[in-house]
Amino acid sequence: MNYKQVTTAANKNIALVAHDNMKAALIDWCKQHKQQLIKHRLFATGTTGAQLEQQAGLDINKLISGPLGGDQQIGALITEQEIDMMIFFWDPLEAQPHDPDVKALLRLAAVWNIPVACNISTADMLITSQLFNAPMQKQIPDYDAYLTTRT
Ligand code: PGA
Repeated sequence: MNYKQVTTAANKNIALVAHDNMKAALIDWCKQHKQQLIKHRLFATGTTGAQLEQQAGLDINKLISGPLGGDQQIGALITEQEIDMMIFFWDPLEAQPHDPDVKALLRLAAVWNIPVACNISTADMLITSQLFNAPMQKQIPDYDAYLTTRT
């Protein structure tokens, strides 16, 4: 695979997702960092997004609920380079009915070189990074170059 360098904007599109047992932790984290988060455009799966709006007072672009396809919607947005970063508190202690979608979402985040936090410590590291509010250079797959090798 060939890669190319792109620059993500200072104002980022951030996906927020939490499994049911992890929602309280994500809501607390978002409340704690609300002043930082409101500078960016926020996306979330349906139930996470509704709870974040109600309990943290954040303005969220809500997709459908995760088990109904919301994880795949976020994956599609990542593929279209519409999501710059993801905070995804998945539950390490309970099986999920949509485990294939969870795995697919994490895979696409890796393919497209998106910063991902799956726990509070990593989320703290991301939000205190100087890149959180600054343009960020990164490598992504070069699809045009890829096509020339296939056609
Ligand atoms: P939810 O989905 O925000 O709709 O609960 C989260 C998930 O399980 O992906």
